[in-house]
Order: sequence, then C-alpha cells, then structure tokens
Amino acid sequence: MVPSFCPNPHCGHHFDESDAYAGHWKHVGSYDTLVVGNVLRFKCLACGKGFSERTFSVDYYTKRLFNLREIHRATSQGESVSSIARHLTGSIASIQNRVERLSRNGVAMHEYLLADLKLSENLVADGFESFDRSQYFPNNINLLVGQDSQFLYGVTHTTIRRKGRMTRHQKRMREKLEQTYRAPKKGIQSSFTRLLGLIPKLWDTYHKPQLRLWTDEHCAYPRSILHVSQLAQSQCNGSFLHSTWPSKARRTISNPLFPVNYYDRELRKDIAAFRRESTCYTRNTANGLARLMLHLVYHNYQKPFRVGPGRETEEVHAEMAGISAVRIAVQFATFYTDRAFLSKQQLSDEGRKIWLKEAVTPLKVGATYLPKYAG
Ligand SMILES: [Zn+2]
Repeated sequence: MVPSFCPNPHCGHHFDESDAYAGHWKHVGSYDTLVVGNVLRFKCLACGKGFSERTFSVDYYTKRLFNLREIHRATSQGESVSSIARHLTGSIASIQNRVERLSRNGVAMHEYLLADLKLSENLVADGFESFDRSQYFPNNINLLVGQDSQFLYGVTHTTIRRKGRMTRHQKRMREKLEQTYRAPKKGIQSSFTRLLGLIPKLWDTYHKPQLRLWTDEHCAYPRSILHVSQLAQSQCNGSFLHSTWPSKARRTISNPLFPVNYYDRELRKDIAAFRRESTCYTRNTANGLARLMLHLVYHNYQKPFRVGPGRETEEVHAEMAGISAVRIAVQFATFYTDRAFLSKQQLSDEGRKIWLKEAVTPLKVGATYLPKYAG
C-alpha cells in the first residue's frame, strides 16, 4: 500500500491527489496485529506525523473484522442490528459501530455524487412518520424524491410533539416527559425548509428552466418554500411551481405523490426499526439516521429501478437520476474498505449532522458519543 495523502488534516499534503504525495513520506517499519497481521507504518516528511496502512481503512481501530457488505445488506433489507449481531456472532455495539462507519462513507459518497448532478426531473417531497426512543416522541423524516427516477435526493429529520387521541394517563405521561424534553416548535416547517434548501444546489435553470415540486396539502410546506429565498424568488417568476395533491387520495402509480408513497413503503418494509408494533424501534436518533443513510445508499445506488412484474431493468435509481454507472462503480470500489475523512468532504449541513451524530435523542442526557477518529 502506498499513501496518496497525509491523514493529518493540518498538513499541507492532506489534500494531495494521485501521486502528488510521492516523495513526501517514508516507510518506518511495520507492526503485527492480531486482526489483520502485518501493518506498514509511515511517517510524513512534511509534518512529521506517523500513521499506518490502517489509518486509511474503514476498519481503523477495530479489533475484529466483520463482513461489511453483509452488514449493509442486512440493515437495508429488514434485519435489526441485534439480529445481525446474532448472525455474525458479534456484539450489538460492534455491529452498530460498523453501521456508523459505513454511514459516514455513505454520506461522503452521496454528497460527492450529488455535487456534479444536474437536476433533470421534477421533485416530490413528503414526511415519513415514526418515533425515536418512545411513542411519546414521534418524528417526521422528510424525503425529497425524484418524480421519474425515485432517487432519494435528501432527508431531514425532526422530532414532533405527540398528537392524536390519548388516554388521560397518556396525557399525564406526556406532560411529565415534556418536563425533560420537548419537541422543537414548528419542527416540520424547519425540517422541510432544510430539505428544500438542497434544491438550489441541484437545480440549474439553464439545464431545467422550470421545476415543479409535488407535495400533499400540509400547511407547513408553502411557508417552508418562502424561507428558501432562491425558491421563493423562482416561484414569483414562475420557474418554480408548487403543486399539491390530497394525501388521502388513492396511492396508485398515477398519483403524483407515488414516488414518496413508494419510498414510505420501502422504508416501512426495509428498516426493522420502522416496522409497526414490534420490539424494533429507534433507541437513539443519531443511530437511526446512520441506518437511514445506509438504506439511502442501498436504494439509490444498488437497487435496480422498480423491479417487479412486467418491469425489468438493470439500472439503479441513481442512473435514472442521471449519475453514470462508472462514477457509482468508482465510489463502490472503496466503499467497504476505505475510510472517508471528514476534513476532505464538502458536506451539506444535514450530511454533517448525520456524520457527527448531532441529532438529539429525546430524554438522553448529554450528546451521543462520537469516536475521535470520526470527527
Ligand atoms: Zn503530513
């Protein structure tokens, strides 16, 4: 293995590409490990920092190797973390740790591929409802999906206040819990605003002069649009259109909200924590978002576009949205082996939040632990 950049983010060679780093590092022996055998050690001649082959590995710091492809497949195809841990004879914490490592690679990959994408289709957005920690803390996961490609462009998350019919005991319980944690006010509106904030980066009016966004009739959505200045301006000049459709309308393929209805169904079926009335649910919001990110990678970049009766295609959703198979393959060549460095990414606020595990878990004291190597 030959290092292609210095892992120290403060070194002048951290952003080196191809063979620019050649001549600026040297071999300084090796060491033996139980987990991967002999590991080469290096020293950067520019900053003097030492590092090893493992510094660049997605398995950096681990004491055991797991099949990461299998963990990714299983988390995105309905298996719970505890079920995967049983199957691979590891602890739940080890599996969750690998899920997080892969989720950071997922954030890096998705945002890298999005940076060059030029939107060529209309969009559909909606909120998927589940809960974190307990049913007293429902959440809204906002999804931005391509109308033709069913590609998931982005997700945002917010905790919302429990509503609906409750017994007197439940109301008292909610009151008690809310003394410790209260869902943010106007959560859906601000979450939806953050989601729509992704659009101006994707939309090139030269490439697509008019863009239509489909949603249901939720009253927060028009207000969110007004909070994204580029979209509000484009709405005034007629290049951005917001169309609504009743959420109660039949969920057929001719329903303009079909792409998000379809995605809702996929999430319900593919992520164990989203299955209703089961012992699986999200205990920690940040961990839940890490699993959602892995599902996004699976859905967008691995799963062929609507496999089903009478419909056969090899193309994945990302290709339908205009990302070339070659660019996807280049990303997957290192997805399960290399470690993405935060310092080398240009992430959206939402991607950064998922990477740094900043999402708040209701009632949890203190922040969710983030290993030093991830920051
Ligand atoms: Zn260096």
